Amino acid sequence: MQHIIDRFISYVTIDTESDPNSDTTPSTKKQLDLANLLVKELKTMGMTEVTIDKNGYVMATLESNVKHEVPTIGFVSHYDTTPDFTGANVKPQIVKNYDGGDIVLNKKQNIILSPSYFKDLLQYKGQTLITTDGTTLLGADDKAGITEIMSAMEYLIQHPEIKHGKIRVGFTPDEEIGRGAHKFDVEKFGCEWAYTMDGSQIGELEYENFNAAGAKIIFKGKSVHPGYAKGKMINSMLLANQFISKLPKNEIPEKTKGYEGFFHVVGISGSIEETVVELIIRDHSAKKFKERKEFIHELANKFNKKWKKQFGEEILIAEVKDQYYNMKEKVKPVFHIVEIAEKAMKELGIKPLIKPIRGGTDGCQLSYKGLPCPNIFAGGHNFHGKYEYVPVESMVKATEVIVKIAEITAIKK
Ligand SMILES: [Zn+2]
Repeated sequence: MQHIIDRFISYVTIDTESDPNSDTTPSTKKQLDLANLLVKELKTMGMTEVTIDKNGYVMATLESNVKHEVPTIGFVSHYDTTPDFTGANVKPQIVKNYDGGDIVLNKKQNIILSPSYFKDLLQYKGQTLITTDGTTLLGADDKAGITEIMSAMEYLIQHPEIKHGKIRVGFTPDEEIGRGAHKFDVEKFGCEWAYTMDGSQIGELEYENFNAAGAKIIFKGKSVHPGYAKGKMINSMLLANQFISKLPKNEIPEKTKGYEGFFHVVGISGSIEETVVELIIRDHSAKKFKERKEFIHELANKFNKKWKKQFGEEILIAEVKDQYYNMKEKVKPVFHIVEIAEKAMKELGIKPLIKPIRGGTDGCQLSYKGLPCPNIFAGGHNFHGKYEYVPVESMVKATEVIVKIAEITAIKK
């Protein structure tokens, strides 16, 4: 267990914050500090085909140790941390034998991680937790995943009696800014399927995510001196307001859960002359997703017709663009890849928590690039902020899940 703690701490103390405003890959150079360290460690532990490409994608191979044919599988994590909260100067704190009470993260600033607010903490009573010092995020998202993949590979190398096929590992930059899968060379990775180790609490197993689109609706107005505006001015902000008021009031993020989709207004910028409304559309069901997009177009047409009568011209432009799709479509035809992960967890005494993701993952993009890729827990909680923590026992279990998946995949049929 100490080994896993040391490894994790050596990764989270390297600042790898990504930057959405940068066009380069990786978006920040400092991410390579960790990528290069991983390359070195992979080589030292005896992995082969260890590569880092010009975009910072790290790949490596653990050779098969059986004679019969086994599908090549992969494990993927991202090494960047979110730009939403600082990841520089992370000072991890270790809480041994957690007693179920408040954890003082920072005495000076009175920052407390309390189970009265974060109830999940209570399931880890008696375990070893790694927390922040209250001034940074921790980076368990997703350096816990990296720690687990590295530890599992090391374990398999040290235990050649465990039989497995060829295994590939992949570490990506820029997942947190939505670009982790963009330049991932699926062909070079060469796997039949893979798993991202990027979920949260122990047991999580995910293969369904939203279908996602973004809509941009532009309202054209006419500015006239307000003193002479009667019958002439068209205030585009007020038109935008009419449009928004016709969106279904209960189908918004704050009123939906599980498989319920939504429309979510994410931005409005406007003047009398022009107002732009940006919204995102999300739904797990492909059919409902299509209907939601159609709804926007129909609403736009209706308003345009009405306003044409009123103002003599069409004044609304609606653009709807798909962003990503539910990986379920790609995973369902190869559903054994989920069953293997489920079986691995059950054999290790972990209760699988299968639930739909209300968002996307790198795995959903990889799935549509030809690499079906469900998501497995990495163990951390409260990602993207100062209350982030990870139970070491969950990291140990995730490591065991990787080993077990490798083992199950290699069983001769
Ligand atoms: Zn992540």
